[in-house]
Amino acid sequence: AADDGPGGNAVAPDQLLSPDLEDKNSAACLSRHEASRRWKPTQFPVPPYLVERLRRYEANHRRCGPRTALYREAVSRLRSAARNADHAAAGDRHHTCKYVVWIPTEGLGNRMLSLVSAFLYALLTDRVLLVHEPPEMQGLFCEPFPGTTWLLPPADFPHKLDAAAFSSHSKESYVNMLHNNIIRYGYGDDARAQVLPAYVYLHLETVFLLTESVKLRLQNHTFCDEDHRLINKFDWLVVKSDNYFAVALFTMPMYRRELDRMFPAKGAVFHQLGRYLLRPGNRAWGIVDRFFEGYLAGADERVGMHVRNKQIFPVPPEIMFEQILRCAREHHLLPQVLATSEPPTAEAKKKKKKAVAVLMLSLKPEYHDKLHAMYYTNATADGNVVVSVHQPSHDGEQQSDARAHNERALAEIYLLSFCETMVSTGWSTFGYVAQGLAGIPPWMLLPVNRSKMRADVACVRPPSVEPCMHPQPSLLTCQQGAGLRHLDDPVKRVPFLRHCEDVPLGLKLF
Ligand code: GDP
Repeated sequence: AADDGPGGNAVAPDQLLSPDLEDKNSAACLSRHEASRRWKPTQFPVPPYLVERLRRYEANHRRCGPRTALYREAVSRLRSAARNADHAAAGDRHHTCKYVVWIPTEGLGNRMLSLVSAFLYALLTDRVLLVHEPPEMQGLFCEPFPGTTWLLPPADFPHKLDAAAFSSHSKESYVNMLHNNIIRYGYGDDARAQVLPAYVYLHLETVFLLTESVKLRLQNHTFCDEDHRLINKFDWLVVKSDNYFAVALFTMPMYRRELDRMFPAKGAVFHQLGRYLLRPGNRAWGIVDRFFEGYLAGADERVGMHVRNKQIFPVPPEIMFEQILRCAREHHLLPQVLATSEPPTAEAKKKKKKAVAVLMLSLKPEYHDKLHAMYYTNATADGNVVVSVHQPSHDGEQQSDARAHNERALAEIYLLSFCETMVSTGWSTFGYVAQGLAGIPPWMLLPVNRSKMRADVACVRPPSVEPCMHPQPSLLTCQQGAGLRHLDDPVKRVPFLRHCEDVPLGLKLF
């Protein structure tokens, strides 16, 4: 393998996708080609080493995926409850297939961030990514890997596979096994003496500790080299996360070299892996295609907005709307209006008209209605600009267990990613995914507490399109010698990490 460190020769963006997918499957997954056509040209070169690793991953997935002999063997070892420790002996490694089983939880944005993170983890550890697909996600995404499937047949797994079946209390949880002395550091190093449990569960959900001033955190012992040395000995790993834990993998010395080779530019990790992995299935793509062609394609410019009014920050809609207008005004995102509804003069009308389409996304209709009324009632200051405002759906409430609702959400994330200009709401993973897919940093509105928006600035524009990982990292501890050590702020020791603009204690790559 050529070492394509920083400055290595980049390849065309479409080469992220396997050439084996090209013709055979194009009707099965229309978004694969059509989405690439709709995105603005990316500013991020694709590193050849990443392409090489993806092709190597695909070959391994074909070798070990469902319906192969190696998979059947691995399942029978899993079902026989404990695997033979001899298997851990180094000489056997190349025969063994290892798996990471991903369990979805929370909203679609959370799911997409955690799925991409699980895939990155699979790439780093030569595991095969298998996805548990509950009914509400059926057919939501295309199969990403050629000649195989990423869907885990639920009957193959000896434990019920849904989000509620795994928690921080699960006895298979890595942290619990460690605390209960079921496994110990150094376990498996002397392979003959020890038998590992059949699988390990890695609980990577961000928990809310409302009783403490700290609101979000991950468990300790989840992103330390010594823990991963142990976790990596298990052939089967189950992971459930609502978070973009990919960021945490970059803080670990053991994965750094490989990550540096795969991602010379750290600000494009989600951009590249998300585009590779998460293409909408044909039902969601149908929505995208109809809406884009019907309302957005004809415009000269597209401005996308996603307004998320979360329960943790229930900002009154009037205040939120004011903030949107202020952000648009200060950064010249939308044409200004006059206090009149009279048409422009005949002279002005002779000039060429410019059409701006605003894609307004929200669970609620009010932001669309207010903006629509503004441009419907008032003339624009530059009479030659016409503004149309469109909202594809307004489901009212989040219903993440409903398939059609998720298809609309996915379609809208993609529509947002096709806009030249984006306005999003801080703390929202829905917006993170769209900005990452687009490769365009959004203007981010910043709710700060239960009723207010940040007053000093209307919105901020992060320099990186990467999603933010939400927990408070300084609480993560690793074993060192006998005692536990509090990690210092990783931003101080990892050059490509920063705190997030919207979540001050969160971490993002740039
Ligand atoms: P987050 O909660 O903002 O971090 O984003 P998630 O995507 O994880 O969860 C929010 C969920 O609410 C989405 O997945 C959708 O199901 C729904 N939702 C929120 N905003 C919109 C929107 O503008 N359009 C649609 N169709 N659904 C939305």
